[in-house]
Amino acid sequence: MNTPTPAHVDGNAAAGVLREVFAVDLTAAVGQCDNCGCAVVLAEARLYTRAPGMVGRCPGCQAILFRVVRGPDRTWLDLRGLRCIEVSLPDS
Ligand SMILES: [Zn+2]
Repeated sequence: MNTPTPAHVDGNAAAGVLREVFAVDLTAAVGQCDNCGCAVVLAEARLYTRAPGMVGRCPGCQAILFRVVRGPDRTWLDLRGLRCIEVSLPDS
């Protein structure tokens, strides 16, 4: 009798892929605004820095794309304003 394949595995299975994404310069990544759907190179987001962290807004609709807060020993990253991010990987 065959054992059914589990529908999911734990998040450790994504470690290698996530390490590749977070090891590159994300300002070159293209994100899709969750509000208006436009594609935005993250370096072209309108960045507001007069806050405890940085807030990147969509140049098309002004919705918040991302928030970054840097603490002394950690960083918080909120990407909920982006539907997805396309990251070009360096040649391997
Ligand atoms: Zn937008």
